[in-house]
Amino acid sequence: MRIETCYFCSSRIFPGHGIHFVRNDCKVFKFCRPKCHRAFKKKKNPRKVKWTKAFRKTAGKELAVDPSFEFEKRRHVPVKYDREMWAKSVDAMKRVEKIRQRRQAQYMMQRLRKGRELETQRDIKEVQRDLALIRSPAAGLKERRAMEESIVEEIHESDVEMKEQAE
Ligand SMILES: [Zn+2]
Repeated sequence: MRIETCYFCSSRIFPGHGIHFVRNDCKVFKFCRPKCHRAFKKKKNPRKVKWTKAFRKTAGKELAVDPSFEFEKRRHVPVKYDREMWAKSVDAMKRVEKIRQRRQAQYMMQRLRKGRELETQRDIKEVQRDLALIRSPAAGLKERRAMEESIVEEIHESDVEMKEQAE
């Protein structure tokens, strides 16, 4: 079922209503009611008759550019997808998707690798910069402890020597 539009006033024509006029060059004119048919027979121009949609559009009373007109557009060539084309397009889409995923994975890996490199570099830098912080007190401690130990040993030794001398 198709709801036609009137040739003259552009209103809707429901099935079973109005009249069709087929000119001898096969152009079909459809009219919603005798009023429009009569006006057409009188060779009136719908753009110059105030109560038609055509007049309202040309006079700027109504939307002339509206995406909703696209829906009711009659096309000479139907939009058609044959099976082969569809399969091809699906194949292409799959391939594109695969490539996209692979590239994304590559990119991710690159980023990960780069991140790891940067991390190691940062670590090395940090260690080099703060080496003094890490080492010197500990090293100093160690040295001090070693010194202390040596001192203690010396003290012990001297003690022992003293004892031996006393004996
Ligand atoms: Zn009409």
